[in-house]
Amino acid sequence: MKLVDELKSKKDELATWRQHLHANPEIAYEEKDTSNFVAAKLESFGVEVHGGFGGTGLVGVIHGNQGDPASGNAIGLRADMDALPMSEETNLTYASQRPGRMHACGHDGHTTMLLAAARHFAQTRKFHGTIYCIFQPAEEGGNAGARSMIDDGLFEKFHMDSVWGMHNWPGLEVGRAVAHCGPAMAGADIFILTIEGKGGHAAMPHLTRDPVAAAGLCIVALQTLISRQLDPFDHALISLTKLDAGSAYNVIPANATIGGTLRTMEADTRLRMIRDIEAVAQNAAATVGCNVSMELRPGYPPTLNHEVDALFARDIIADMLGPNGLETGMKPVMGAEDFSFMLNQKPGAYIWLGAGLESENLHSPHFDFNDEILTIGASLWVRLAESKLAQTR
Ligand SMILES: [Zn+2]
Ligand SMILES: [Zn+2]
Repeated sequence: MKLVDELKSKKDELATWRQHLHANPEIAYEEKDTSNFVAAKLESFGVEVHGGFGGTGLVGVIHGNQGDPASGNAIGLRADMDALPMSEETNLTYASQRPGRMHACGHDGHTTMLLAAARHFAQTRKFHGTIYCIFQPAEEGGNAGARSMIDDGLFEKFHMDSVWGMHNWPGLEVGRAVAHCGPAMAGADIFILTIEGKGGHAAMPHLTRDPVAAAGLCIVALQTLISRQLDPFDHALISLTKLDAGSAYNVIPANATIGGTLRTMEADTRLRMIRDIEAVAQNAAATVGCNVSMELRPGYPPTLNHEVDALFARDIIADMLGPNGLETGMKPVMGAEDFSFMLNQKPGAYIWLGAGLESENLHSPHFDFNDEILTIGASLWVRLAESKLAQTR
């Protein structure tokens, strides 16, 4: 492993920062102390700090000294800062001091790795252009801190040619990393189908339009959507998870609802599935004279790495961690990630960084970020950014 020497020597200090953040977790949009900690560190490194993005989100701006920064490229490196609303069960000396709050996804580590890289950039400035260190709120829980920062003008205020994200990955060995070419994480949407019929006496169904019978037909028909209508080489998942109708045994209700989740890997598949779910349900319900309307609650879009950037990241990973450090055989997962909102607007890639085979799973009450990878992740940020900004525009 070709780590950055200066970072290797700071291993213990970085673990101290990480464990401080671990002991003081804050959930989505409440990351006030975390944001203050990050801002204070950045200012102490001589980094220009801009707050006011997505509430607690902030951006550290670092210009290189290899030529006029304005004529170079600009890149964004992103870390998430939020914890989860759950109770920690690790018994660590630095376990959460805040009941019902826990860093169970390793965002304490992500924040630390980017801070360590920011200090290195500020001290050396050996690049041509500008590095934006993006510290975002609220990755967890569906309220998309990444989108909030974009809505607050992140990309208007700061021009970036590409954006990059990194997440620790349990189940992948320490010293290995993944950059998918294409989909890395799924998009997740919620849909609610409301079936409108005509209520009436249970003994006189011919005078009604029965939404319960329609719901049954819809459920069966929707099972065929993926098996019979989706191209076998595309990826999508539908789970129907909620069903609601009726209040009495002798009354046919006027309406029924079916709720579920849609997971997709490609943007066009997602749009087609959204359209087809409503159409298939409508056609099925029409056989008993009912109508269907669909409410879509959009979640995070699929996380789609741009191929050129994923290949660039792979080169950096292979060079820094050795040929065995680059893992290319891991499939994407059906979980979702709000960095997708940034990748929808800018080229770039999202990297999984091995957290070790022994690591507990993400979101487990026993999870703890592996401090052994702090210097690996920070070094990867440094190599990636410096190499990217060595390229001419
Ligand atoms: Zn998570
Ligand atoms: Zn996470």
